[in-house]
Amino acid sequence: MSSNESLANLLKEERRFAPPAELAAAANVTAEAYAEAKEDRLAFWAKQARRLSWATEPTETLDWSNPPFAKWFADGELNVAYNCVDRHVEAGHGDRVAIHFEGEPGDSRAITYAELKDEVSKAANALTELGVQKGDRVAVYLPMIPEAAVAMLACARIGAAHSVVFGGFSAEAVASRVQDADAKLIITADGGYRRGKPTALKPAIDEAVLSCPTVEHVLVVRRTGQDTAWDDSKDVWWHEITDRQSTEHTPQPMNAEHPLFILYTSGTTGKPKGILHTTGGYLTQASYTHHAVFDLKPETDVYWCTADIGWVTGHSYIVYGPLANGATQVMYEGTPDTPHQGRFWEIIQKYGVTLLYTAPTAIRTFMKWGDDIPAKFDLSSLRILGSVGEPINPEAWMWYREHIGGDRTPIVDTWWQTETGAMMISPLPGVTAAKPGSAQTPLPGIAATVVDDEGHEVPNGGGGYLILTEPWPSMLRTIWGDDQRYLDTYWSRFGAGHDAAETDWRYFAGDGAKKDEDGDLWLLGRVDDVMLVSGHNISTTEVESALVSHPKVAEAAVVGATDATTGQAIAAFVILRGTAHDDAELVTDLRNHVAKVLGPIAKPKMIKVVSELPKTRSGKIMRRLLRDIAEGRAVGDTTTLADSTVMDLIQSQLPAAG
Ligand code: ATP
Ligand code: MG
Repeated sequence: MSSNESLANLLKEERRFAPPAELAAAANVTAEAYAEAKEDRLAFWAKQARRLSWATEPTETLDWSNPPFAKWFADGELNVAYNCVDRHVEAGHGDRVAIHFEGEPGDSRAITYAELKDEVSKAANALTELGVQKGDRVAVYLPMIPEAAVAMLACARIGAAHSVVFGGFSAEAVASRVQDADAKLIITADGGYRRGKPTALKPAIDEAVLSCPTVEHVLVVRRTGQDTAWDDSKDVWWHEITDRQSTEHTPQPMNAEHPLFILYTSGTTGKPKGILHTTGGYLTQASYTHHAVFDLKPETDVYWCTADIGWVTGHSYIVYGPLANGATQVMYEGTPDTPHQGRFWEIIQKYGVTLLYTAPTAIRTFMKWGDDIPAKFDLSSLRILGSVGEPINPEAWMWYREHIGGDRTPIVDTWWQTETGAMMISPLPGVTAAKPGSAQTPLPGIAATVVDDEGHEVPNGGGGYLILTEPWPSMLRTIWGDDQRYLDTYWSRFGAGHDAAETDWRYFAGDGAKKDEDGDLWLLGRVDDVMLVSGHNISTTEVESALVSHPKVAEAAVVGATDATTGQAIAAFVILRGTAHDDAELVTDLRNHVAKVLGPIAKPKMIKVVSELPKTRSGKIMRRLLRDIAEGRAVGDTTTLADSTVMDLIQSQLPAAG
């Protein structure tokens, strides 16, 4: 059987949710946008570019003369920080709150656009004093505090590319990223608050700089006040240097293709890649998609994205998209269960959050903690809910809508990647009749489809590989310092790679997907995670969703383990909901449940109940580590895990022999 047939539609989903009439009537973007973009894709993006303020208006839209190396708006010039900050102040919105900061210990701070302009200007002057120039790289290793956004914008303001590394990555992980980018400066903090206590950040940097000769200074934000080792020759306190700077700084226009940032992918599958994003196209798509998909009304909405700034979601949908659009947003430093499991809902109630953007992993955790927790808070301000990071299981989608969205809010399931820079596939909240678990439709101006092994587009009802068939403004420009890896990773699998004709260049996303009978897209997880059982391709995502649709299961991770008879056998690790208990009967029940939902072929051979799953800092399950366990191997590289003790915990919960 070809993958084309067997990947198809194991999971049936009949539920539909139309947009609320009121929202649809006042939506920023209507169905017309699809038609307009279809008519002339480049004219559509040229129009979206005019959402921004350009110092020199571009006359070119796309230069695809040297594919797959794209240039967008190449003769235009603009300053990203000016677009995210100054222009809102100039337009009379200086008093609007840009960031409602909520610290984990309960401290809070409201920063207006006028204040943000002063902060960013002072930081830009400080970077200049430290010798940072246009074209340099700056590494950022900070907790979720406003200075993280200020630091990124200050870099953008002077044309230095930032490379944000998750606060919490090891010294080794930081060092390899700093070395790869030849960063001149590292911006960090003494520490940050996580799980109710201050955790130190600077020691990792102190260790990392020993092997990073390009680093001239370490700029240190005082967040926790904890004791911090100090090297006078390198270390500089953020408050000391910024306090003495002028609040005046003239932003220099940058070419649209000037590097804005490098961001290393989360490393779910292997060695992190330094993804390079540039200025004009990136900001155009980050701004447009935030406006379209969240229907942002800057005068009245309060937006909250719960991602970490060290993940691309934090770049595009905490810093650049929302600020370019003049949004008021919440920024939260800590974890969702500190000091109690209702913290998120308390924050939504406190600030009257209207737009929430979070990840399936968080939603499944909330399901596990129980429905009664969000029920204690007033969540009636919410009007749109977003999801990103992994396929959202239909049952998690339903829970999100019912228990957080009051059974009324649209959910936008947004598919995109570090590489795409901004959202690519998502429902539009005022247009799309949503299907639980499906990202559904490429956004206006985006071209995506599903192909089989040979690269032929599959018909509706078929499954295979997700590809993007036209360049898009916020696409990665290359892998930092490695054009060949850029070509090999993304363009050689399904692109001709030899012919310069535009249509021959097709971007391979690395994700499996299917098209349902309506042509809507369903993401099936990474291609590497697809299992081959007795000659059938089965997606881990679908088996996980089937498990999560059982009332006792909150979260599931499924892997294919090598099996002598079936090629691969399905092994599942499940976390139970609050009150459920693990026993032999439950395991039989779960196996039968999967067989009923998906068919007997998808019945897991092994199901283990665990209390945690291995995840990256961006909340993605690292299936390769579970595959190591299921196949009885020593567990591989765990450096990008959020919590490196999880693998020991899981192993201790399993019987010694598999
Ligand atoms: P690496 O490429 O180093 O393994 P990563 O892919 O985890 O890291 P990201 O760029 O943060 O790093 O994640 C993008 C991936 O996340 C997508 O390729 C897809 O697998 C998954 N993803 C993101 N959003 C969605 C979504 N809405 N539905 C399904 N999958 C999603
Ligand atoms: Mg990836």
